[in-house]
Amino acid sequence: MTSKLIDQAHAGIVALHAYEPGKPIADLQRELGLDAITKLASNENPLGMAPAAREVLAHWNGDLSRYPDGNALLLKQELAQRHDIGIERITLGNGSSDVLELVARVFLGPGRNALLSAYSFALYPTVAMGVNAEPREVPALAPASAMPYGHDLDAFAAHMDAHTSVLFLASPNNPTGTWLEPAAFEALLAATPEHVLVVLDEAYVEYQDPAQRIDSRALLERYPNLVVMRTFSKIFGMAGLRVGYALSSPAVADLLNRIRAPFNVNELAQQCAVAAVRDTDFVARSQAGNAAERAALHEALQQRGLRCLPSQGNFITFDCAQPSKPLFEALLHHGVIVRALAGYGLPQHLRVTVGTAQENRIFLTALDQVLAAA
Ligand SMILES: *Cc1c(COP(=O)(O)O)cnc(C)c1O
Repeated sequence: MTSKLIDQAHAGIVALHAYEPGKPIADLQRELGLDAITKLASNENPLGMAPAAREVLAHWNGDLSRYPDGNALLLKQELAQRHDIGIERITLGNGSSDVLELVARVFLGPGRNALLSAYSFALYPTVAMGVNAEPREVPALAPASAMPYGHDLDAFAAHMDAHTSVLFLASPNNPTGTWLEPAAFEALLAATPEHVLVVLDEAYVEYQDPAQRIDSRALLERYPNLVVMRTFSKIFGMAGLRVGYALSSPAVADLLNRIRAPFNVNELAQQCAVAAVRDTDFVARSQAGNAAERAALHEALQQRGLRCLPSQGNFITFDCAQPSKPLFEALLHHGVIVRALAGYGLPQHLRVTVGTAQENRIFLTALDQVLAAA
């Protein structure tokens, strides 16, 4: 591309780096000629897709020549029931990342800023910069605090100014696994001006201990500036189908839906998502499996002297006490894909998705070999 063309691009976009996804299994197979790959890099569900959704695919003999329902009424009705909320308060997206982008386009722009924590999800600064808004990083809690590298809600309140339009928070947060204390989050909501949108990303909430969860559904009734993000990519095991959604006040949902691409959730994804919502058995199995394996993996890492951040997600981030990129590379040669976190400002940490018992064993065996050689 000529530099004249580049000069025409939005400055915020020119300054961006493309999102780096977890390394795909096929890439590693091609590069190293390995057959068996264990991918624990993208927080996918190790039990696979919700069986009810798999059934839909297995028996599907429909026709994709027609556009899907642009309003996805059946899926919205299912979600309305799941959350006891009106369908006019739901905004569907091609994954929740799509909805994050809608939020940025509606509420951010030049001269405005979005607050986000250090060590939080990479897409928050991306969507802000994509509309030439300023992503303003709020320092996180200290490594030695009770919630190391977690969101510092007092700092969020202190960093707001007259140009702040959106706060992005995640609980549990990716890549740290840390979570927000419900009372502290509500205090932040109460301290936030009503014209500032508060986005609470709950991509991992189903993995959280119910006793520690924020009652985001109840808060939606009291704070019309609250937006709650949910996804089918994690516990429902549908990352490849791309479905996510936001719950909000009707007014915010109306704005988001005005610029939403009308067919952003495809026909198969809609049908699978409807089935998945009803598959409460699978969700329960996934929760129980993750809780048990997360505890075992945490214990195994700690036994090796590797300090783990507290996690209520389906992944664990741990301190390697040495640069983690070479360890990440060495693990690839053992057929294990995890995530190095230098891009998140954590150059000594690795993030590993909680897999099945067998996957975790494979990971730990490879890790032992890699650490012994390092
Ligand atoms: C995985 C993840 C999402 C979900 O993204 P989708 O676009 O729905 O696949 C959202 N937020 C966070 C923090 C995540 O880690």
